[in-house]
Amino acid sequence: MSAALIESPEHQALRRAVADLGRKFGPAYFQAKARAGEATEELWAEAGKLGYLGVNLPVEYGGGGAGMAELAIVLEELGTAGCPLLMMIVSPAICGTVIARFGTEEQKRRWLPGLADGTRRMAFGITEPDAGSNSHKITTVARREGEEWVLAGRKVFISGVDRADATLFVARTQDAATGKLKPALFVVPRETPGFEYRPIPMELLTAERQFQVFLDDVRLPAEALVGDENAGLLQLFAGLNPERIMTAAFSLGMARQALATAVEYAKTRTVWGDSPIGAHQGLAHPLAQCAIEVELARLMTQKAAALYDAGDDIGAGEAANMAKYAAGEAACRSVDQAVQTLGGNGLTQEYGLAALLTATRVGRVAPVSREMVLNYVAQHTLGLPKSY
Ligand SMILES: Cc1cc2nc3c(=O)[nH]c(=O)nc-3n(C[C@H](O)[C@H](O)[C@H](O)COP(=O)(O)OP(=O)(O)OC[C@H]3O[C@@H](n4cnc5c(N)ncnc54)[C@H](O)[C@@H]3O)c2cc1C
Repeated sequence: MSAALIESPEHQALRRAVADLGRKFGPAYFQAKARAGEATEELWAEAGKLGYLGVNLPVEYGGGGAGMAELAIVLEELGTAGCPLLMMIVSPAICGTVIARFGTEEQKRRWLPGLADGTRRMAFGITEPDAGSNSHKITTVARREGEEWVLAGRKVFISGVDRADATLFVARTQDAATGKLKPALFVVPRETPGFEYRPIPMELLTAERQFQVFLDDVRLPAEALVGDENAGLLQLFAGLNPERIMTAAFSLGMARQALATAVEYAKTRTVWGDSPIGAHQGLAHPLAQCAIEVELARLMTQKAAALYDAGDDIGAGEAANMAKYAAGEAACRSVDQAVQTLGGNGLTQEYGLAALLTATRVGRVAPVSREMVLNYVAQHTLGLPKSY
């Protein structure tokens, strides 16, 4: 798949360099670590040292000074090499972006260099058991007590909390004038008293686990609040476009890995005479369809990243939702077809495809479900009435 017409030479060089790093580790390394319940620390550390994890963060805080287009390239290429680093969606993309755009000077100095070189990690927590897709319904509350903030609530499905130095939580503060609750963002270091987490057993082969989180009157200093208490929604949205663009890249990497494995297999496996199974259109056409869908989703992801990096948050919102949807669908279909192409081998650990069946489903559910993207497009793109 050539990217020459739309990608700059710098982007193509970045792809090649990251792909080289990914191949050095590869799917065997990644899946062995995930099966053992271990983190892919060596890969994370090397990617950080090479500047890939912080490529989007400002230069003055140790980042690469580039944008979401470049960070998405890193995640896509690592995934294509069999190493989909889910935590990249959270740590540099959501948390790094929100702190870089809205944090105080002290917060930027404290967090960004470590997020950029991978020596520190930050998780992100918005989802709640009783709110789910309806994040307007979250009930985690932050109340002021003197100079301190006190956080109380519960979160669910929060990725990587155990290995993150801190989690950026979305809570609600009470508007003094109206009494209404409005969102605000808080950094909670992992060892803060009252902050507890419990792993959720998931059928996912990933390097990080998901957690239930309990915030039991967690006391935080005033400087834990990121950005303006009165502009929480705006600040939150600043992190959500990167989240969707990166989830698209996460899906695309796995889709490309699955397709490459399937194509290689289809070229060499013969069961009828001399012709490989890939010569049969019953296998070749579905793989070709998947290749088309993946390429279209890649284009939409590049469009979303370009709009976001150009500062068009509204335009990026629509494109990022569409890219996340398209990449999630293309990935699920590609992995399903890849498994089918390998027959019984599609379900062995050796070929590493079966694990992608659940991993690619993540792109349909999180961070915003397929149905909620369709709701968004129906209302905002098509102007249809809201149904819920
Ligand atoms: C692997 C993984 C990692 C995650 N990591 C994080 C993380 O790090 N931080 C974090 O905050 N969250 C995280 N999440 C949570 C994720 O963002 C949520 O699962 C997602 O937002 C959906 O919420 P829910 O699971 O509560 O589903 P629900 O909201 O209960 O939805 C269930 C189903 O109903 C459908 N539905 C709901 N409302 C409508 C409607 N109006 N119209 C049509 N259909 C509707 C949904 O599309 C979905 O199919 C993670 C989830 C997974 C699976």
